Amino acid sequence: MPKMKPIQEWICDSCGQTVTPENGYLEWLSPDSGPHSFNVVHNKQRCFQHDNHFDRSDNPLDVFLGAKGLQQFLAMLDLGRVLDPVGRHMPGTPELRSFVDVIRRLHIPYYEEARLYFEAAVSEGYFSDQNEVSIFVPETCKAIIERYENT
Ligand SMILES: [Zn+2]
Repeated sequence: MPKMKPIQEWICDSCGQTVTPENGYLEWLSPDSGPHSFNVVHNKQRCFQHDNHFDRSDNPLDVFLGAKGLQQFLAMLDLGRVLDPVGRHMPGTPELRSFVDVIRRLHIPYYEEARLYFEAAVSEGYFSDQNEVSIFVPETCKAIIERYENT
């Protein structure tokens, strides 16, 4: 049985304790070349990892949840056809691994908890019949938690 509430609880990238929409923040660095180094953290200075960076950006975690939250991420990729009809002002490209991982963390149920067991699952060959889509769908993530949580 998964222990974390999907899309309601996360693990702070700094202190390892539970983060919720009420006490969580997303922080990242946003130089002109594109955003990177996304962290889900508590809204506390001691958990911020980019506090002294010139390019630091942040927002409360709930800004990035649900359909509005997905739009927050997509706007980092493209302003859209209304504001930029010919794609002249494309923002810098996000560092894709960090960007896609944080979207999965905030939008795919059970992904956050399943992340704890990915290494064990890889080493056991658990993912061998999964493709690039099925590997992170909620059903697979939940099955990974159930398979590895007591190991
Ligand atoms: Zn924390």
